[in-house]
This record gives sequence, structure tokens and C-alpha cells, in this order.
Amino acid sequence: VAPDAAATAAGVSVHTTLYNGRKASHQLHVLVVGCGMGGLAAAHCLGKAGHKVTLFEAASAIGEVGAGIQVTPNVSRLLRRWGAGPALEAVGVRPEAIVLRRYATGERVGYTRWTDMEERYGAPYYHIHRADLHRLLFDLAEPHMELRLNATVVSVDPDAPSVTLKSGEVVKGDVVVGADGVKSLVQRVVLGHTNPAEPTGDAVYRAIVPAELLLEDPELRELVEVPDMTGWMGPSRHVMAYNIRGKKEYNVVLAHPDDGSVESWTAEGSADKMRADFADFDPRLRKILGFVQSTLKWRLMDRKPLKTWIHPSFRVILLGDACHPMLPYRAQGAAMAIEDAAVLGNLLSRLAHPSQLPALLQAYEDLRLPRTAETQTQSRLNQTIFHLHDGPEQEKRDADMRRAAEVELA
Ligand code: FAD
Repeated sequence: VAPDAAATAAGVSVHTTLYNGRKASHQLHVLVVGCGMGGLAAAHCLGKAGHKVTLFEAASAIGEVGAGIQVTPNVSRLLRRWGAGPALEAVGVRPEAIVLRRYATGERVGYTRWTDMEERYGAPYYHIHRADLHRLLFDLAEPHMELRLNATVVSVDPDAPSVTLKSGEVVKGDVVVGADGVKSLVQRVVLGHTNPAEPTGDAVYRAIVPAELLLEDPELRELVEVPDMTGWMGPSRHVMAYNIRGKKEYNVVLAHPDDGSVESWTAEGSADKMRADFADFDPRLRKILGFVQSTLKWRLMDRKPLKTWIHPSFRVILLGDACHPMLPYRAQGAAMAIEDAAVLGNLLSRLAHPSQLPALLQAYEDLRLPRTAETQTQSRLNQTIFHLHDGPEQEKRDADMRRAAEVELA
């Protein structure tokens, strides 16, 4: 990503090639809607760029659901740059490899070493509890924002610009950033019409199992002790599992055809139904699932890339799942939201006069929309690759993966 080039194109002078804590000489009051990972990252980056930030969250307390999340090097590099490297290291587990297995037998077909992430991408890969990542982003954002909890935004005036809360209170600012997730209200304002996210045909169960229970079984110890990411690829279904929280918890994500679940971060699923849905998988996975007491169930949504993320007034923009929800099959949803925030903060740190705002916001969209659109498409592609049915295409996939694994392990 080259915000400097975009800033030059936007007619803004470029002083440094890196974003070294530069502050805008014209300060905006930015109203951020949504205290998810994207909203918090935006609050941090915009605050650091010298702007005043008010963040509105509908919930009465901040937090995240009980599940794991993958922090890929494109994000850990940013978090390190923002000074959160030690905090990330303290709460993250560094996986050594990803191992992909056949669903029924557990036979290894794919293997990619991940210990060289630092050399290849300049930062490590981490597995982490969502609540820990959310807390880390909150700690980064807190000094730079006024947080309004219990503050549901019910409408946005794109010309004033302002947000109206459920209480009736109207808060005016200079720019509204819609980081309000997949059911975004701000998106409707930007587009001028509704454009709901689309079901992808898949849903996921998510569960966390205490690792000590698994380590007692020698067969499972083999899988769980090394902090690898293990995936099982099966017809219309796949499973990803990894260690979090100092390898004390084992996080399991099970993707399967959607059977009428709801799009919600907190809906409970049935652990027995989950076990039944994966009854033809590797006996070791079934043993792991035997320890699951409760599970969360998500309907997975995405949408085709939007034509624009900016209201014609150039006062309301979108960020994160509000504009680019995607299947989690490349672990990039939150990553893209955090990257959006980094680029937005970088560009708006160059603001010297209000007249530059439209060009800088346009540069934000020009830089981010193609990258996130590509990531949305790639995430869909992984759905096809992971979920191939038994037959020639699946055999070819596995043969290609075996060959690559041999090279990797040689
Ligand atoms: P959200 O997290 O949805 O936050 C939106 C916030 O806005 C919420 O707090 C909500 O309460 C608030 N809000 C909504 N409307 C209003 C309103 N009107 N007024 C005030 N507040 C409002 N991503 C990765 O990078 N790596 C992974 O490994 C990964 N795994 C995933 C696994 C699964 C099963 C799923 C479903 C997703 C996964 N993702 C992953 C994607 C990632 O979780 C999302 O992309 C990310 O959480 C989006 O963040 P956000 O801030 O844009 O939106």
C-alpha cells in the first residue's frame, strides 16, 4: 500500500515516506460508528493523526465473543508499529505450520511452514482470543477517543454532518466513519439504498476446549501439543483448529452448509447437532468434539464489492465489514478493517486545509477498495477449494498439496 503516492495524486504534499506520527495541521472531529476491531483501529489511527474522535457503540459494554481469531503478518506488522508488539506477543500463540488433512482419515495432504513469517513478511503470525485482540485495540484507541456506550446511532445526516442517537441526541462532527459491521446503517446512507449482505451458503460452529483435556489423550496430544493450525477438508465442510491463550485453550471452527442459522455473533448452536454434522470426519476430531460443552453458531455473509464507500457529500465513509464483509476462509475480515484504519489515518494525517478532504477520502477508497475486493474474491475461492467433494477434482487438489508439502518438509 502506498498512501504517499495517493496523497501526492490528491495534491497533498508528502513529507515522509513513512507515517512517523505526523499530525494533521487541520483538525477534524470524526464520528466513528461501531466499537468493533475496525472502529477501534480507526479511533487509534485518526486520533494519532491529530483528529478528535468520538466513537459510538450500541452495546452497553465493550467486549468480544468467546472464540479465536488469526492475526496474520499484515496486521501484526501494523500492531507492532503502533507499539502493541509486546502486548500481542503476551496474548498470542505463534503457530509453527498449517497442516491440512483429509476429512475422513485425517491423512496429512498439505503442509506449510509458518516459522519464517518474520523473514518473509516482516512480522509473525499469531492465534489469539478475540477478546484479547479487542482489548489490545481498545487500549491503543482509548487515549485518543471519547467512547459513548449505549449509544445506538439511528440516523446519519450526510450533509450536516451529524449522527442522531436512539436517545434523540444529535452529535455534529466533520466526518462520519461507518464501522458498524455487516448490518451497517451507515452503508445505507452512503449508497442511498439498502444493499443487505448475502448469505454465502455456509455457517460455522465455534467452540473452545480446555487443552489439558486433550493433552491427556496420546492420540490428541500429537495434534494439539505443537502449536500448528490443523485443517480438515471435506465435502461442503471444513474444520480449522488452533491453540490460543498460552496453548491452554484449543479453538475449533467448523464450516458447514447453512441450515437456517442466524447472522449473529452470539447465537448458541447445538453441540450434539455439531457432532452429528461431522460424524464422518477423522476419529481424532470427533474425540475433540466430544469435549465440547457449548458452541456458538454464525451464518456467514458476504457481499459483492461496493461501487463506492463514500457519500457524494464526502462527509460519510465506510470501513471494515460495513463495506467489505467476507468469508473468514482467508482470515482477513478484521485484518482488512485494521488495514483500512491504518491507511485512513495515514492519509488524514496530511490534512492541512478542509478543501483537501474529498481528495484524501477518494485516495482512501482508491487504495482500499481494490485490495479488499480481491480479498473477498479469494476468500470465496477458498470455499470452493476446501469443500471439494470426493472425486477427480479433490484428488488433484490433494495431489498438488502433497507435492508442495514434500518440498516444504524436505
Ligand atoms: P464488527 O466487529 O461487526 O463491529 C461493528 C460494531 O458496530 C459492533 O460493536 C456493533 O455493536 C456496532 N454497531 C452496529 N450498528 C450500530 C449502530 N447503529 N450504532 C452504534 N453501534 C453500532 N477476521 C480476521 O482477520 N481473522 C480471522 O481469523 C477471522 N475469523 C473469523 C471467523 C468467523 C467465524 C467470522 C464470522 C469472522 C472472522 N473474521 C476474521 C472476520 C472478522 O471477525 C470481522 O471481519 C471483523 O470482526 C469486522 O470488524 P468490524 O469492526 O468491521 O465490525
